Amino acid sequence: MRHADRRNGIQPVMKAVAVNPGTRQVELVEQEAPTITAPTQVKLHMLDVGICGTDREICAFQYGTPPDGHAHLVTGHEALGEVVEVGSGATRVRPGDLVVPMVRRPCPHEHCVACRADRQDFCFTGDFSERGIKSLHGFMTEYVVDDERYMHVVPRALRDVAVLVEPLTIAEKALIQVDQVQQRLPWACGVVPGRPSQGCHRAVVIGAGPVGLLGAMALRARGYDTSVYSREPAPNPKADVVSAIGGHYFSAQDTSLEQLAERVGNIDLVYEATGASSIAFQMMKVLGTNGIFIFTGVPGRKAAIEVDTDVIMRNLVLKNQVVFGTVNAGVEAFETAIRDVALFQERWPAAVRALITGRHPIEAHRDLLVGQALGIKNVLTFA
Ligand SMILES: [Zn+2]
Ligand SMILES: [Zn+2]
Repeated sequence: MRHADRRNGIQPVMKAVAVNPGTRQVELVEQEAPTITAPTQVKLHMLDVGICGTDREICAFQYGTPPDGHAHLVTGHEALGEVVEVGSGATRVRPGDLVVPMVRRPCPHEHCVACRADRQDFCFTGDFSERGIKSLHGFMTEYVVDDERYMHVVPRALRDVAVLVEPLTIAEKALIQVDQVQQRLPWACGVVPGRPSQGCHRAVVIGAGPVGLLGAMALRARGYDTSVYSREPAPNPKADVVSAIGGHYFSAQDTSLEQLAERVGNIDLVYEATGASSIAFQMMKVLGTNGIFIFTGVPGRKAAIEVDTDVIMRNLVLKNQVVFGTVNAGVEAFETAIRDVALFQERWPAAVRALITGRHPIEAHRDLLVGQALGIKNVLTFA
């Protein structure tokens, strides 16, 4: 952090990556470093900030809302920071702690029972805000101040991989809901006395980007026989990650959905992680008996396509299927994501490392945010 002379003394300024929807620019800006203004706030020095499709779409001006009174929005929502200062009323975190901040903040409406119950990931009104996305500055900067209730402490041993926690929360929230929904039927896998418990379900993940691969890891960690269906032909680095975690990789270029279904058997769960609606609805046709289909992608608006609604509706009824969409994540999903990243790291250290394509200085932001998407997960580092 540098210091700049200002009218009433010396004010620290810091660099931030920002998008200006008015001038359609993605640029490095300098702004005043934030200070603690409430007892339960904490100040973080950002260490790693991951880049995802959401950031790239914001930097293509598809969405993204600057805070009131600002022309620019500081981007970045997948973060790891180190606590450097805490307010007098902070009890959950201490200086030196590594934390992953949550992204969404509650809406102000009294009648929003979700936000009033700290479940802004289920906000009814849509008036929530999201750091780095909607009405609040994000994390691609040197210092951030926020309330400690949005911070999740991660063990220091996860320093190099904790930037994966936030994108993993998508799968964690989805799988928490799968457990809740499937409780309506006898779904638990049988346990053989004296043997370690093993999964009995078969899952298909559509897409091998970071959300898909992290979802595949979360499914494997729960014992699902997991297949990943993606565009690129194998071998490729994403297929390597899938085999390293004991999953099966299928390319759409040489395997049709019917062939995939034949190879997998009864598809108990589909985890959609591409935002490609056409392939997703085709996949819905091969979802198995008592199957559950989870949408996590957000497709752009394209021309309408034909969907075989008779087959899908017949299957939904006759096979007791459930389809749901899920967005953002609550406290429990963050906590399970931290536990899972530790587990992944223990079981598949090379595969977890392979998810992080590279760490780059803040000056490299432009290529990563507006250039061609390369690799799996790129990270800006402020350490
Ligand atoms: Zn993201
Ligand atoms: Zn709300």
